[in-house]
Amino acid sequence: MKYQPVIGLEIHVQLLTDSKIFCGCSTKFGAEPNSQTCPVCLGLPGALPVFNEKVAEFAIKAGLATNCTISPRSIFARKNYFYPDLPKGYQISQFEEPICLKGWLDIQVDGGLKRIGITRIHMEEDAGKLVHGDISGLEDGSGVDLNRACTPLLEIVSEPDLRSADEAIAYLKKIHQIVTWLGICDGNMEEGSFRCDANVSVMPAGSQTFGTRAEIKNVNSFKFVKQAIEHEIERQIDLIEDGGTVVQETRLFDPNSGKTRSMRGKEEAHDYRYFPDPDLVPLVIDDAWVQRVRSELPELPEQKIMRFTDEYGIPAYDAEVLTASRPLAEYYEECVTLNGNGKAVSNWVMGELTRALNDSGASIDKCPVTPRLLAELLKLIDSGTISGKIAKTVFDEMWRSGKEPGKIVEEQGLIQVSDSGAIEAIIDEILAREAEQVAEYRSGKEKLFGFFVGQVMKASKGKANPALVNELLLKKLNE
Ligand code: ADP
Ligand code: MG
Ligand code: ZN
Repeated sequence: MKYQPVIGLEIHVQLLTDSKIFCGCSTKFGAEPNSQTCPVCLGLPGALPVFNEKVAEFAIKAGLATNCTISPRSIFARKNYFYPDLPKGYQISQFEEPICLKGWLDIQVDGGLKRIGITRIHMEEDAGKLVHGDISGLEDGSGVDLNRACTPLLEIVSEPDLRSADEAIAYLKKIHQIVTWLGICDGNMEEGSFRCDANVSVMPAGSQTFGTRAEIKNVNSFKFVKQAIEHEIERQIDLIEDGGTVVQETRLFDPNSGKTRSMRGKEEAHDYRYFPDPDLVPLVIDDAWVQRVRSELPELPEQKIMRFTDEYGIPAYDAEVLTASRPLAEYYEECVTLNGNGKAVSNWVMGELTRALNDSGASIDKCPVTPRLLAELLKLIDSGTISGKIAKTVFDEMWRSGKEPGKIVEEQGLIQVSDSGAIEAIIDEILAREAEQVAEYRSGKEKLFGFFVGQVMKASKGKANPALVNELLLKKLNE
C-alpha cells in the first residue's frame, strides 16, 4: 500500500428532548409541516431564545461517556449563513468554547484496541427542511418546513485518528451505541437523527504530513459511510497517481452510483463570521451538576462486558455481542438471574432468539418469548425433561403462541425418553435393519457412528435422550 488514508468524523446527534433547544415547541417527528413552530424557531424579529437545560444535561452525559472534560463555562455563538431553511440567517451553535473537550473512545481493530481522540462536542440547533415536489396543490413546488428548526443537536468531532473505512465505521457504531444506550438519541439514521460528515485525505505511506481533505456531507447509513469513504480514498489516490492534486472541498455521496461528487470548493467555502450570541448568557456548569449527571449514568457497555464475563463466566466475545444494545443486555441479564446458567443463556440469546428476532423484524422489547419463558425452557433442558434439539421446537412454538414451555411439552408429548429399555428396543430395531452398515462399522469404519445416532433419534422423533443413545449404541455396536 503506497498511500495512507486519514479520516476524521463530525457526527450529528439529534437529542431526544421533548421540546426544542431554545423554545418550548415539540420535537416530535412527522407532524404537519410548520405545526410545531413559534416566534423563536420561526426567527421572528424580537423573539428571544431561552436555553433548554435538558440539552446541557444530555451533552454532559455524552461527554462523560466519551471521556471528555466538561467545560465549566461554555458559550453559544452565531454561525452566520443564508439558506431558506434557516429563517434567522444564523444558526446558534458553539465555537470557541464548546461544552465538552478532549475525549476519547477505544475501538476494536484487527490488532486489538485503538484509541480515537474526540476533539470536542458542542450543542447547536438544527435547521428546518426544504421539501420539493407536490406542495399544497403546486405540482412542482418547493416548501419550507420549520418543524425541525431549533431541534437540539450535539456535534461530536473526532481527531483525524482513523486510518481506514473500517475503523471509521467501528468508531461511528461505537458512538451510535453510546448515544442510544444513554437514551439521548433514538439513533434513527433514516430519519436523520444520527448522521455524519466524513473528512477524508490520503498521504504517502510513512509520511507525517496529512494530505488535503475533502469533506463528504450528511451520509445517512453505516453502509453508505463505508462506501463513501472507500470511494473517496480511491478517487484521491487515482487523482494523485494521474499527477493531479486534491483540493479542499465539500462533496456529496450519491448512493445510486456509489460515488462522491463535488458540491462546493474552498473558494466558495463559507465564512461563518462566528461571534458570541448576545441573546444568550454563557452556560455555567458547576461540579455538583456534573457529579449529579455522572451518578445518573447507566452502566456503560464496556463496564457491562467486564461484569458479564466476571459474574456469569461467559467469554468476552459473548459479552460483546450481548451488549450490542441496552435492551438486549437487559434481556440477557434478566434471564440469567432466573436461570443461573450464564453460558447456556448466552448461547440461546445469541442463537435462537437473535435468529427469531432477525427473521420477524421484531424488536427485543416486543419479543413474545420473555426472559422468564426462555429461563423456563432452559430449566426443562437442565432437568432432562427435553433435549436441546426438542427445545428448539418448543422455542418456535413459544414464539408463535407465547405459551408456557411446560405446557407446550405436555400438549405435544415432547418429553424426552430416558428409559434405557425403550431406547435399547429402538437401537435393536435399527441395527437389525442396517445390518450392512453395522458390519462396515465393526470392520473399522467408525465414522458411521453418527449415522446410527441419527437413525435412532429419527425413529424416536427426536425425543430419545441423546447422551443415553450414545452410550447404549456404543455398547451394542462393540458387543
Ligand atoms: P470544519 O468546520 O472545517 O469541518 P472541524 O474542525 O469542525 O472543521 O472538523 C474537521 C474534521 O476534519 C475533524 O473531524 C478532523 O479530525 C478532520 N480532519 C482535519 N484534517 C484532516 C485531514 N487532513 N484528513 C482527514 N481528516 C481531517
Ligand atoms: Mg465540517
Ligand atoms: Zn418554537
